[in-house]
Amino acid sequence: MGEHTDQYDVDLFVIGGGSGGVRAARIAATHGARVRIAEEYRLGGTCVIRGCVPKKLFVYAAHYAHDFEDAAGYGWTVEGARFDWSTLIANKDKEIARLEGAYRANLERTGVEIVAQRAVVDGPHAVRLADGTRVTARYILIATGGHPNLGLDIPGRELGITSNEIFHLERLPPRIVIQGAGYIALEFASLLATLGSDVTVVHRGHKVLAGFDEEIRERLADELAQNGVTFAFGATIESIHAVGAEKRVRLHDGRDLLADEVMLAIGRVPNTTGLGLDAVGVQLTANGAIVVDAESRSSVPSIYAVGDVTDRVQLTPVAIREGHSFADGVFGGKPWKVSYEVIPTAVFTEPEIGTVGMTEAQARAQGRRLNIYKADFRPLKATLSGRASRVLMKLVVDQKDDRLLGAHLVGPDSGEMVQLIAVAMNMGATKADFDRTMALHPSSAEELVTLRTKHHSSDPLPEVSSEATPAI
Ligand code: FAD
Ligand code: NDP
Repeated sequence: MGEHTDQYDVDLFVIGGGSGGVRAARIAATHGARVRIAEEYRLGGTCVIRGCVPKKLFVYAAHYAHDFEDAAGYGWTVEGARFDWSTLIANKDKEIARLEGAYRANLERTGVEIVAQRAVVDGPHAVRLADGTRVTARYILIATGGHPNLGLDIPGRELGITSNEIFHLERLPPRIVIQGAGYIALEFASLLATLGSDVTVVHRGHKVLAGFDEEIRERLADELAQNGVTFAFGATIESIHAVGAEKRVRLHDGRDLLADEVMLAIGRVPNTTGLGLDAVGVQLTANGAIVVDAESRSSVPSIYAVGDVTDRVQLTPVAIREGHSFADGVFGGKPWKVSYEVIPTAVFTEPEIGTVGMTEAQARAQGRRLNIYKADFRPLKATLSGRASRVLMKLVVDQKDDRLLGAHLVGPDSGEMVQLIAVAMNMGATKADFDRTMALHPSSAEELVTLRTKHHSSDPLPEVSSEATPAI
């Protein structure tokens, strides 16, 4: 970067050592900035400490339950397989501590100074630490993330847990009620049910995963129900009462459910309360998110914000890119804008969802004429395992120029596939590009390059096509 402005203690003060803050701090430091970062809990933030990473480790743990069952059809006898929750928790904790250390080491290696304290804004160019120290900074980056929404003020709310606590339960809950039907509710419903919990999902709507492609939503709900998840749709929790060690959950329709744990997974709220933003004039949205422009600058020119605290897209890779773009633009003299057009995402249920781009409904709402291509098949592995699960794949293609607008998958490894479809979409891939791509056989992914039949949204799904039946 250019000359140092020594009128300030540092060039950049980052509040929050999560995905966005850590990336921004590291990149700014490599551009020559003097950087300090404050983290009040644990370096790595939500994703590493109590989000993506421990969640995915739990998902792997759950997979084994099905793998052991599936192995029988392949000739294996697995005797005495038992699951021990406390071993999983202890090993997960060890890995998260290792990762936290790696985050710390990476920051230190680039010369970023770490402050293990809460920090709040104390002027356009100053922050105040919990111990009272005031630090001045040429720029402030707010990357404080969010916290679980605790919902309405219902009696007994304090008896409920959130995704923060689920990673530290002393035992696998024999019965759990989960409110919400978004990413977190469904990922935990799926993995806990697979591990052996009796799971009931209570959702105010009638379908899971608002905003996802309609057929994917329906298929996932069917698959989860088949895996033992019970759904209470059109319902909300009215109260929670402790009855001995149990919890009695009363729903609005008068039904009572008995559970050992009640988890609220009804969205996340930006961490802006008590941050001193009002006093300095940083504009917030109605739900408390920081309003920023395309370069992540807030209404105060020296204060920027990235990641979940801005409530743009609550995903780790997005927070990381926003942090990187901020640091390159402000300290590297290389401004670039984050593109929000092609964002692949997975829901790590079993089966997994992978999705990228527009849903059919979103594309139609833009007045586009579409070609829809679908495959609905039983994966080869399921033939000997006997598992009833199926794979659904759907491509949304613009009739005008044959471009792929969206891809929506449910089935094993859907997230892995969608990451690569996103590359093709970024390059402007057309359906013809998929068609002229050689298939890789036998795989599920080959279905993506052998889809031939167009469907209108009202059409039933095609007759079974299957990787078990070579497409010759
Ligand atoms: P965070 O990672 O939340 O970091 C903010 C940090 O700021 C925290 O460490 C916090 O302690 C600290 N902080 C807050 N206020 C202060 C203050 N005043 N002073 C000092 N420090 C402060 N995303 C995915 O892409 N894939 C997934 O699979 C996925 N799974 C998830 C699973 C769960 C259970 C949850 C809850 C989230 C998941 N996410 C996932 C979302 C992802 O975790 C977030 O989008 C991402 O962590 C946002 O990064 P961030 O830097 O904005 O905030
Ligand atoms: P989501 O926004 O995904 O889902 C929230 C759910 O709670 C929805 O079903 C919503 O219903 C419901 N809800 C919201 N408010 C209320 C209320 N007041 N009362 C009852 N129900 C309510 O949020 P999550 O908490 O599941 O996750 C937060 C974010 O974290 C995700 O959006 C995602 O961006 C990220 N994440 C990503 C993951 C991944 O990449 N695999 C995994 C986990 C989290 P309705 O549909 O009616 O609004």
